[in-house]
Amino acid sequence: MATTKLVLLTFAICRLIVTVGLTVDPTELLRLVVEGQLSLDPSDVNTASKDFGLMSRAEPLAVLHPASAQDVVGLVRTAYSSPHGFTVSARGHGHSINGQAQTNNGVVIQMSGGSSRSGTPGQAARVSEKGMYVDAWGGELWIDVLRSTLEYGLAPKSWTDYLYLSVGGTLSNAGISGQAFNYGPQISNVHELDVVTGKGELLTCSEEQNSELFHAVLGGLGQFGIITRARIALELSPQRVRWIRVLYSNFSAFTKDQEFLISLHGQPTSQKFDYVEGFVIVDEGLINNWRSSFFSPSNPVKITSINSEGGVLYCLEITKNYDESTAVTIDQEIEDLLEKLDFVPTSVFTTDLPYVDFLDRVHKAELKLRSKGLWDVPHPWLNLFVPKSRISDFDEGVFKGILGNKTSGPILIYPMNKDKWDQSSSVVTPDEDVFYLVALLRSALDTGDETRTLEHLTNQNRQILRFCDDAGIEVKQYLPHYTTREEWMDHFGDKWDRFYQRKMKFDPRRILATGQRIFSPSS
Ligand code: FAD
Repeated sequence: MATTKLVLLTFAICRLIVTVGLTVDPTELLRLVVEGQLSLDPSDVNTASKDFGLMSRAEPLAVLHPASAQDVVGLVRTAYSSPHGFTVSARGHGHSINGQAQTNNGVVIQMSGGSSRSGTPGQAARVSEKGMYVDAWGGELWIDVLRSTLEYGLAPKSWTDYLYLSVGGTLSNAGISGQAFNYGPQISNVHELDVVTGKGELLTCSEEQNSELFHAVLGGLGQFGIITRARIALELSPQRVRWIRVLYSNFSAFTKDQEFLISLHGQPTSQKFDYVEGFVIVDEGLINNWRSSFFSPSNPVKITSINSEGGVLYCLEITKNYDESTAVTIDQEIEDLLEKLDFVPTSVFTTDLPYVDFLDRVHKAELKLRSKGLWDVPHPWLNLFVPKSRISDFDEGVFKGILGNKTSGPILIYPMNKDKWDQSSSVVTPDEDVFYLVALLRSALDTGDETRTLEHLTNQNRQILRFCDDAGIEVKQYLPHYTTREEWMDHFGDKWDRFYQRKMKFDPRRILATGQRIFSPSS
């Protein structure tokens, strides 16, 4: 077994030397004996060359399956200290859109998958009931984190809509869903991290210890280090969820209600919803799209019968969590809240389900799409943070304008409170107290319909960005994708200098996460 690893490693090193012209003494690199596996297997390399977006491809020379944080340390230290260096990209579940976890001619560290690798490799995530936190391996998927914490009746507070994403991957962006108005994004719910910097040092960081690294890494697009462990805040897990959707034909009534609901974040639990999202219905086909197979044929109201403004309807999606002790009051609490809203009166759709089933809702849709061959298709997704003051201009220009009655996938829209986002983290948001996520989650299909082609949807994304630019709507991309230094500087705005200085401090050779295309490696 050890010999096989050594042979594989020698192959990888020889290929590195040949391809990038490293002048390293091979015996030095052979000291990199990993507990896990450094793989040249074509199927590993092929997987690491792609992502969910299926729009870009970059082939690494090798893929490391680490068995410990020390494996990550060993590889990064080698890359950093080699005379010419080589690039290293952590890959979670590869659910990026534009090659953010890929690297050409470097090594991808496949953080997710394989045996259960938690804060301590080989063990499930470790829960502290007393401390109300869980320690998870950076590559752990959120679904597995949830399974571990539920054994103690606990659950993380802030989520993404989809749980087959890695802890390190979402914390490198923000991690948002309908709970963010209340708890902030996932990056606001982390106590501590273990991070391997671009120099190969393994550091524990938090608000108190190595705080600059802590803030840099959260929302840091993988630029400053590789998260090997995250300590995540927990709450008592609710048992069930009342899941409600109501429709609006009027955009300003819709956003007014959404903004009202998120303004209740400081209120007692009984007086607010636990989750606030929403989506746009531009064409009727979308009513039962992959994210919203919710409206049943036995709808009390025929959706087409609702008079929509410019052909567009808006759906507010809210939930209330409960358990045995609160089951008796939940109906009244919901009624009191709904009474304050201004939706189309006949359009209330309600369902009730276990908490876990609600959190894992998108996975069910994934399985359906997979069975129809509609999951592994290109995804030209565009995620924007839009300032509250300009959301109605965005509605006019994009939902009622550019999209032209055809969306080709779900469009989410929901507001968040900026004061729940720590301004010392690396993530950038618009400069207003409330901003919206608008997520155009579209799939390109080759069915002969020219409005569904990758080219059409990509052009439309460009048109949307141009429209915002021309109209002076200061959007920020979430899960950003840019290709030039100027665009990145513009994206970070007055946070750029700090971002740059932190990069020079924690990854001075610029070898980490080059797939983000922010920095080029130094030779
Ligand atoms: P990857 O795509 O593998 O990596 C993303 C970036 O993080 C890369 O730059 C990579 O190098 C870096 N990285 C990965 N692991 C680490 C690590 N351990 N340490 C440091 N850097 C690392 N996002 C939301 O916020 N909310 C949602 O509701 C949501 N829903 C989604 C639903 C689907 C179906 C999909 C495909 C994506 C969704 N996302 C959502 C986006 C998701 O958060 C991003 O794709 C994110 O990158 C996580 O994916 P991943 O774990 O596969 O990371």
